[in-house]
Amino acid sequence: MVPRNERDKQPMTSRKSGLTVLGEFGLIASIERRAGQHTHVRLGIGDDAAALTLDPGHELLATADLLVQDVHFRTQTATAHQIGRKSVAVNISDLAAMGAKPLGLLASLAIPSATPLKWIEQFRDGLLEAAAVYGAPLVGGDTTSSPGPIVINITALGSALATQTLTRGGARPGDALWLAGNVGLARAGLEALEAGVRGFSASKSAHKEPQALLKYGMALAACGRCSACIDVSDGLLGDLAHIVARSRVGVELDEASLPIHPEVRRWAKRIGADVIDYVLNGGEDYALAFALHDTRKAPLLSTGDTPALVRIGRVTDTGALTLRRADGCLENVQPRGFVHF
Ligand code: ADP
Ligand code: MG
Repeated sequence: MVPRNERDKQPMTSRKSGLTVLGEFGLIASIERRAGQHTHVRLGIGDDAAALTLDPGHELLATADLLVQDVHFRTQTATAHQIGRKSVAVNISDLAAMGAKPLGLLASLAIPSATPLKWIEQFRDGLLEAAAVYGAPLVGGDTTSSPGPIVINITALGSALATQTLTRGGARPGDALWLAGNVGLARAGLEALEAGVRGFSASKSAHKEPQALLKYGMALAACGRCSACIDVSDGLLGDLAHIVARSRVGVELDEASLPIHPEVRRWAKRIGADVIDYVLNGGEDYALAFALHDTRKAPLLSTGDTPALVRIGRVTDTGALTLRRADGCLENVQPRGFVHF
């Protein structure tokens, strides 16, 4: 799309930097050269739209995430490479929650013209590295200058057998509730980074380099026992509330079974906070919370590492989100995740 004022693209000074040197099409060409080939991508970067081939019986899943400088990331505390990787991982996590296999990514970028070329190249490389890790080829996007912050929109396209797609809406009373991955760690990491505290390396990397549990989500879809799934991005309670609403059920968590990473315990103690609040309302965890409609253990991956798996509670018919305290008392709980507005 052509900007309303084409002259806005011109730099204010003659000192050339970032996109001014590379240019919109220079950047796109440099991305295209590195984007690689995939058999299901009939047309990738370079045409007006990408053309992707779906396997028979599969449906298309589409998800987008927006990352805004100083809202979702700070260039002072994360490298461009990490931001590139993270922008992909958070989208792949949404595909994982649906049990989908990635088909491709679209990257729409608004970048201030003064952004250093090195930053842009490292961001691009981080993005493409993560795209390769998750097997999600970059098939298109849009590139523009920004008069304000860096804005990154990634759209992820995936596919799943239409009969296997996982949703938030299928949980039934009596289902077992499970968690794959860590919760609270990324929030501890963000706080440790912002406080300039040394150590807490697992926490910091959970915040800066989250890993999407893509293979595990795909295994859940294939196992035929999973009734509902969500990726935990806004805090465990906040995201379980979505399962409660979409499935019209209740959820009861067992406090005693909630997994607490040692660094989260240490961080909460250090700042005098309630460690359970980190677990329940962490944010940016990119774990998977899911319901299984039998009492057997959650499936393990046949190849690669299975994430930490814990049975954290059960699906009920109460319509409420409740916490069974270690002393046996049952409490109603409210999500206290991050709110944008
Ligand atoms: P149009 O003007 O038709 O929207 P563009 O000139 O913006 O097309 O983009 C040219 C091609 O480059 C398209 O295939 C588009 O998907 C791709 N593209 C643009 N920006 C990016 C980007 N940041 N990452 C990946 N592909 C991009
Ligand atoms: Mg365009």
